[in-house]
Amino acid sequence: MITNPPPWPNGARCAVAFSFDVDADSVVHAAHGSAAIAMPHALAHMRYDPFVATPRLCTLFARHAVPLTCFVPGWVAETYPAAVETILKYGGELGHHGHFHEWPSGQSAQQERESLLRGSEVLERFSGVRPRGYRAPYYGLSASTYDLLIEMGFDYDSSLFADDVPILLDNGKGQLVELSVPASVDDYNQYVSSRAFDYLMKISSPRQALEVYQAEFDALWEFGGLWVSVWHPAVSGRPAQALAIERLILHMQSKGDVWFATLGEISNHIKRLVADGDWQPRTERIPFYSEPVVDLKR
Ligand SMILES: [Zn+2]
Repeated sequence: MITNPPPWPNGARCAVAFSFDVDADSVVHAAHGSAAIAMPHALAHMRYDPFVATPRLCTLFARHAVPLTCFVPGWVAETYPAAVETILKYGGELGHHGHFHEWPSGQSAQQERESLLRGSEVLERFSGVRPRGYRAPYYGLSASTYDLLIEMGFDYDSSLFADDVPILLDNGKGQLVELSVPASVDDYNQYVSSRAFDYLMKISSPRQALEVYQAEFDALWEFGGLWVSVWHPAVSGRPAQALAIERLILHMQSKGDVWFATLGEISNHIKRLVADGDWQPRTERIPFYSEPVVDLKR
């Protein structure tokens, strides 16, 4: 069903990267600006991230020896340093997720460059290395994002629903490894109902959410794909939801032949395969279109 799966290390059938976007209350400030400070309910909801859920998840994943990749906006790292120290203490990778969780598509190229630089500088202060991976806040990529990431030396992006296996994005000056996410493996779709975030969905039981996540994993395990979660500690790190995650880890481990890795490790593996000529991923030239295809409004 997947026509060109990459060879995974040690003959694993699939790769799994548990990734969390540690947004904390950056999303409240980004969405509501100066009004955010008068929204204690929304702020408290998201401050659950650094104070409660992130430490809980770090210990849960460490207990099962499964690595984490955490995309952290620069402002969040500056505001909640203990949470970032905890991620690093447990061997997690820090990925770039904007500075104030700005919408990249709402920024000029210069503003976006500044957010990328600022976020990178903050994360580097914690880990000693520049973040190598990026996930666009709100999946809100701009027309400039990939050019900027390539120019700034990022290795990978994990913002698209583009494929079931890694692909390459090539702008003619350089390449990025794209580590796509299964479209249904975002926890907002399952668990979030919030007027503050303009996101009113029916809340699923953890059992129902787990069914969705597990079905994606089982299919990718069968056919050799890449499974990446896009979860948020304030959403999936609450007790009932965290228990569901633990059940999923146990399910994956009981099936066996799974490569659990950070997204940085997966990106390294793909780059090595390509450099050694051992596997050729699908390559997309970016931008996908250099001019509008049609303008039906005229
Ligand atoms: Zn986010």
